[in-house]
Amino acid sequence: MDLGNIVNELVAAMQAQEDRGTVASYIPELAKIDPGQFGIAIATADGRMLAGGDADTGFSIQSVSKVFALTLALGKVGDQLWERVGREPSGNPFNSITQLEHEQGIPRNPFINAGAIVVADVNLGGHQPRVAIGEMLRFVHYLSGDDSIAIDEAVAASETATGFRNLALANYMRAFGNVRHDVDLVLGNYIHQCAMEMSCRQLALAGRYLMLDGRHPDGGRVVSPRRARRINALMLTCGHYDASGDFAFRVGIPGKSGVGGGILAIVPGRASIAVWSPGLNANGNSCLGTLALEELARRTGWSVFSPLEEGD
Ligand code: GLU
Repeated sequence: MDLGNIVNELVAAMQAQEDRGTVASYIPELAKIDPGQFGIAIATADGRMLAGGDADTGFSIQSVSKVFALTLALGKVGDQLWERVGREPSGNPFNSITQLEHEQGIPRNPFINAGAIVVADVNLGGHQPRVAIGEMLRFVHYLSGDDSIAIDEAVAASETATGFRNLALANYMRAFGNVRHDVDLVLGNYIHQCAMEMSCRQLALAGRYLMLDGRHPDGGRVVSPRRARRINALMLTCGHYDASGDFAFRVGIPGKSGVGGGILAIVPGRASIAVWSPGLNANGNSCLGTLALEELARRTGWSVFSPLEEGD
């Protein structure tokens, strides 16, 4: 299998696509992004990097950050986290409030907004948001081996000015006692974490620990093998909001999307893949990013549902 060739052909096919979806506009700063972009980067378990298109252009990783935030929170409180956040797909939009009422302020999973806000509350740990954000940045720098990754302050300010729904979710959970810090501090942490700007190359590098059973490529251990498997399981079942089932069906590997148009996808033992194209489909997932991953999985045979690597 010539992966470099597949990447080049995928980039050409995606650049020729006319239906690119719609760029997210509820965070005004994101609405300014040119939808004509597409990037892909694949970090392989044997240490190669294959990249194409706009793989070095920075974008707002948004909800993809929830994977790194979850990893940090599990490091702090371990399985106690599951007393405050569930592990079931939501079947509802990423910012649903009604489900929270039925479930007494315990969000369905750590990848919908309510769950990620609880995770941000855990990661705050009694500190100011800038302390928690500093920790997050150091973690992502370590994972990717790239210290240049930073927060896009314009995106953070834009979401701070308009994020009324997340404020409602946080207040609602505070009423149930499931958010423990001041909601402004929790959202400050959450919004800045979402506003990290990364390129596909940086994101694929940062995801390597999840393809390596929890190990950093430098040999250090980021999380235990069991924890890496569980995070991958959550990405597969909950990583694409209420389209997670469809993503598992079409692509067949764990992935986490964000409204900035990025997706981090993990093929255990094989590859950490980042794709980015800012236009979203009706479920808020990158339109071309999903299509590219579907095609990549088809051509490589990569799937968590098959022991064989056979494209079709
Ligand atoms: N910061 C975004 C929000 O809370 C993240 C959403 C996403 O990427 O799905 O609305």
